[in-house]
Amino acid sequence: MNALVEALANLSSLRERESLDFALVTLLQKFVTEPIQTISLVRLVGEAGDLRWQTQAALRAGQATPARDRVWVNFNTLPSAQEYRDRQICTLNGEIHQVTGTPCFTLLPIHSAGRVEGILEIQSQAPLTDSTQQLISSVLKIYRNVQGLLDYGEKDSLTELLNRKTFDGAFIAATLHETNNLELAQPDRRLTHVAGYWLAVLDIDHFKRVNDSFGHLIGDEVLVLLARLMRSSFRFNDQLYRFGGEEFVVLMRCPSAADALAALERFRKRVEDHDFPQAGSITVSIGCSPLLPDDTPGAGFDRADKAVYYAKAHGRNQVCSYPELVATGELAAEAEDAQQVDFF
Ligand code: GH3
Ligand code: MG
Ligand code: MG
Repeated sequence: MNALVEALANLSSLRERESLDFALVTLLQKFVTEPIQTISLVRLVGEAGDLRWQTQAALRAGQATPARDRVWVNFNTLPSAQEYRDRQICTLNGEIHQVTGTPCFTLLPIHSAGRVEGILEIQSQAPLTDSTQQLISSVLKIYRNVQGLLDYGEKDSLTELLNRKTFDGAFIAATLHETNNLELAQPDRRLTHVAGYWLAVLDIDHFKRVNDSFGHLIGDEVLVLLARLMRSSFRFNDQLYRFGGEEFVVLMRCPSAADALAALERFRKRVEDHDFPQAGSITVSIGCSPLLPDDTPGAGFDRADKAVYYAKAHGRNQVCSYPELVATGELAAEAEDAQQVDFF
């Protein structure tokens, strides 16, 4: 009992999502009395029509550390929603779902903002007793409360995108994570890897006019709808931020400049074509830049910001790429850019 309370106290002190997910499955593996074969925390990602399961933490009996899908996992390699019928049933019903047999499966939904946001799936030799299920449900409540605190600190309350405060840490975690993996496998791949990240700054055009003409509430609604368009346009593991006001940032991993520019252009067009209630037509200017080896979050942001500034000064409603502007002489390269890398 004391050990469980201690483990719960440790879990509730965590302020980082991956550690929290890992602590949850480790704690349950340790304190559930029935022998557990595997315990997994999964969530559905992607869009309606092509939803897939991403594993946030999975721990097999006898394993010391949980495993997870990598941050920038290729979406197409994830199993599709239909491959796990019981997870689908649990998601639809929003209730504990038990499958008896050998082995047994117990699936518990994790609710967030009125919908099932994830599933805890436990594979065991025998069915879990009612009191074990009760214990797991209670631990999940604590887990959800901690997640709620993290959301509160990391997300913008209006759009629920990540806020500016989390940018530096998330940027470094996302890029370093993969760099380390590649370094282990193949040390000289580091530069190739870093060159695969793109940062874009998106700024709504003439947003002040929206507020002036229709009021702040309609302005806020435009921001919420734009965030929704971002979520449905970019990939599930692209990182989407509201930096403040009507300025947004996207950190994405793209194999080539053409892919990054195509994704941004597709988004620009979607916004242009969208009919916003009352406000009608809205456009965005976008500036982007690939990340350089050893880039700091601030340096990457500054280049993308220069490109968006250029887009604003040259007609708005367009995507401008920093390396292209430098190559065509429209912008002067920063001294350190020129020394460090050839963008192409
Ligand atoms: P530009 O095309 O040059 O970007 O022009 P703009 O009008 O979009 O840019 P400017 O920086 O002049 O104005 C931004 C406006 O965004 C000013 C402010 O009223 C509005 N704004 C900032 N934050 C919020 C918010 O949270 N809600 C609403 N409704 N408006 C906001
Ligand atoms: Mg603006
Ligand atoms: Mg602005």
